[in-house]
Amino acid sequence: MDDRDRPGHKQPMPFLPIVHAPDYDADFAPDHRFPMGKYTRLMQLIRASHIGERAIVHVPAPASAEWLSLAHDRVYVDQVLACKVPASIEREIGFPVSERVSLRAQLATAGTVMAARLALAEGIACNTAGGSHHARRAQGAGFCTFNDVAVASALLLADGEVGRVLVIDLDVHQGDGTAEICVGVNAIRTVSMHSEKNYPVRKQTSSIDVALPDGVRDEAYLETLDWLLPRAIEGFTPDLVFYNAGVDPHESDRLGRLSLTDRGLKDRDRRVFAFFRERGIPIASVLGGGYSRDIDAIAGRHLLTFEAAAEFV
Ligand SMILES: [Zn+2]
Repeated sequence: MDDRDRPGHKQPMPFLPIVHAPDYDADFAPDHRFPMGKYTRLMQLIRASHIGERAIVHVPAPASAEWLSLAHDRVYVDQVLACKVPASIEREIGFPVSERVSLRAQLATAGTVMAARLALAEGIACNTAGGSHHARRAQGAGFCTFNDVAVASALLLADGEVGRVLVIDLDVHQGDGTAEICVGVNAIRTVSMHSEKNYPVRKQTSSIDVALPDGVRDEAYLETLDWLLPRAIEGFTPDLVFYNAGVDPHESDRLGRLSLTDRGLKDRDRRVFAFFRERGIPIASVLGGGYSRDIDAIAGRHLLTFEAAAEFV
């Protein structure tokens, strides 16, 4: 009998590994279309919440060009690292790639690699950034500079740390960049459930795509999720799951077209974490999208994911 199993033994409080860097926040103007301040605010909310004392925060160092080139063309990687991204690509990304933006993209990517390794060791880990799923092999797009999940998947597969990776992308937008980069890679299965009429106009083909009509509410969404999760692992046993927990399916999101409530989002996150934890499959969550002019509101929605994760440490 293990000491921990003895009657009366007090279980040590389990800790949630969280990956965060202050420079995830590239300090945009408060009225910018991309709510950059949410990264700083989210970490403040985590520290102030009940999970603050149960979190161990890990800080990543910027990803190297070698890592980034596993999922992106070297030409584009070098352009971002030198802050010399062509204006046409910057327009597609949605902001200029300054030194701060370049650094945050490198940090967020390394943060997802770190969260993946922590999940492999601890079972679960959360990055407070990442989920830049619109970045394609040749360039960034849709507020995404580097595709952190694609880079981390390619790196861990190349290093032999995992044999199979599953990407569950529940951001309201399709994970088009991830699908494009990972297409034809048998060791990676990409699953995206998104709003059919939302960005990107031209969708890519994930391993499994579920396109939802406008206005879907909690009950129908969660029912579809319960149908989807078993299918995501049908004939494919992953060594690691990346979970894009974008909160833009929320009814108040500026860019979403779905109608989930706070409770619906948290139930979604709980079901995803529970599903994989019950099967002993490590899961690393990445932040994904969430859009509001109210930074407190949007950070509060992202906090739900961390609260849900803390229930499954
Ligand atoms: Zn999104």
